[in-house]
Amino acid sequence: MGYGSVNDFCIRNKSCNVDFFAYSILQDLLANDYRIANRPRLALAISIMSEQSNTSNPSACGLPSNADIGGEGRLNRTEAEWKEILSPERYRVLRAQGTEPPFQNEFWNHKASGAYECAGCGETLFESETKFDSGTGWPSFFRPAQSDSVDETVDESHGMVRTEVHCSNCGGHLGHVFPDGPKPTGQRYCINSASLTFSPGEAI
Ligand SMILES: [Zn+2]
Repeated sequence: MGYGSVNDFCIRNKSCNVDFFAYSILQDLLANDYRIANRPRLALAISIMSEQSNTSNPSACGLPSNADIGGEGRLNRTEAEWKEILSPERYRVLRAQGTEPPFQNEFWNHKASGAYECAGCGETLFESETKFDSGTGWPSFFRPAQSDSVDETVDESHGMVRTEVHCSNCGGHLGHVFPDGPKPTGQRYCINSASLTFSPGEAI
């Protein structure tokens, strides 16, 4: 299999998850028992990963978001207030549209029943019965708790068009939504754990 470019990958997979793109290259190399002929693809994977780790706020499901979400929802707080309320990590994700590394975050493999709330304002955003294993290393859901729980903006950073999602109550950045999710919605909400808190509840 060849992985010519991120764009080819996006078209083939109907997704622009560049972390997964880099991961796919490495998996492919591993399966083929790495040889020197595979060096260009290894270099490509490394360049994607280093681009992300060199960025001040590497993003959910790929690269950083620069979508202008305005930082304002129905709940308005000053940036100084947010800095006081949130931990530095939560502030970086929710207010500065940063992200956390895949597979190294609180909820990517979290399977308990309950509700996931916005770490900024406590609004219920997602429920455990809509969580699924996307293989990306970030908590993934096929639907928000309510249709108006999250708002979307178009994010055109990094030469891609992605849909950024944020809390409709406080404007906190959550992650992105991609049209490659499972049934019944076909949506994949790829969310930063740092933007969520969890309340255990009854299994439904
Ligand atoms: Zn919120």
